Amino acid sequence: MHHKFAKRASSVTSSDMRIILTAGERPELISLAGGLPAPELFPIDALKAASEAVLTEEGAASLQYSATEGYTPLRKIIIGRMDAIGIPVELNQVMITSGSQQAIDLTGRLLIDEGDTIICESPTYLAAINAFKTYDANFVEVEMDEDGMIMEILEKRLQENPNAKFIYTIPDFQNPSGRTLSLERRKRMIELANRYDVLILEDNPYGAIRFSGTAIPPIKHFDTEGRVIYLSTFSKIFAPGLRLGWICADEVFIEKYIGLKESADMHSDGFAQRLTAKYMELNDIEAHIEKIKAVYKERCTAMVACIEQYFPNDISYVEPEGGLFIWVELPASMDSRKIALACLENNVAVIPGAAFFANKAQTNTLRLNFSNTSEARIIEGMKRIGEVLHRELNE
Ligand code: PMP
Repeated sequence: MHHKFAKRASSVTSSDMRIILTAGERPELISLAGGLPAPELFPIDALKAASEAVLTEEGAASLQYSATEGYTPLRKIIIGRMDAIGIPVELNQVMITSGSQQAIDLTGRLLIDEGDTIICESPTYLAAINAFKTYDANFVEVEMDEDGMIMEILEKRLQENPNAKFIYTIPDFQNPSGRTLSLERRKRMIELANRYDVLILEDNPYGAIRFSGTAIPPIKHFDTEGRVIYLSTFSKIFAPGLRLGWICADEVFIEKYIGLKESADMHSDGFAQRLTAKYMELNDIEAHIEKIKAVYKERCTAMVACIEQYFPNDISYVEPEGGLFIWVELPASMDSRKIALACLENNVAVIPGAAFFANKAQTNTLRLNFSNTSEARIIEGMKRIGEVLHRELNE
């Protein structure tokens, strides 16, 4: 039978990553591969109470169809959170999405014509690469150092690609590299975007999970022309299963996003939106985020200590100040896909970094996740990776 797939289906392929992520279901295996929050921190008891209150007070409304742009009290909560980080927005500049992943996909629909150029970090978030690929985007990568995207290279890429649509950037504790774009570079990125008339898609799911160092204002804080579309999510500070994220952008963009979202799924889960708003009303979300940060800090510190103790000397990494990931660069001769498969044999799962490059894979890199594993298991898992790395080096 001819499946009659559309052309865009050809970019949808199964990846090494899926093989490694499904292996994580074996109990003897320690998985540092995924990007999941710590499930033991989900506020389940508080959510039972909030859910009871929602169903009692506004049960029918929470189960009925509702506005595409989202539940107004939740949008107001988001306005408060945005204001606190230096992004003043009005109600008509905020739309709730089904996770920020949907916002990424809708941005593809809104902005990308076949062959359009997107400028992104090298490496960058795999599921954004995949989403933009389905709209036939052409990627131009900008190399990073420990302070994020390198601005001289960005400027060169903008000169070479005068019709680039937008810069896709994850400025805080980037997935996968854990790196943060410095303050100077944020200001410079806005200057360059203004000069070369390109939009910026600022994807910031991790900014609230800063466990050391000093907070840096988001890129949108410096935006005077309304060219930054800012995305964030409740996934990392609350519960990813509720699938709630948001877009903050000028009204002209939000109006289009609302139209596109209506065709995609009408609206995000109305019960989840009311539940989240009710939780915030009855509980102190900041205290909850502090708890998450404390646990992740401890796990990140343990992972870094293990890199120092168990990994060979000639690897490099940047210690992140927040987020969920550490990025490791192995000696240039090492193929991290081979390492990841050898790690699986040794009952530890890691993600080879190659998947996170839009065009040109750097094959000696690994992404390690510290949020989803206890300190004791992180230590054991890192020992196992260390054994594999030493064995490979001595071969
Ligand atoms: N952007 C980045 C950089 C991410 O790492 C993730 C999730 N891992 C998302 C967006 C999507 O998150 P969600 O849809 O759960 O909000």
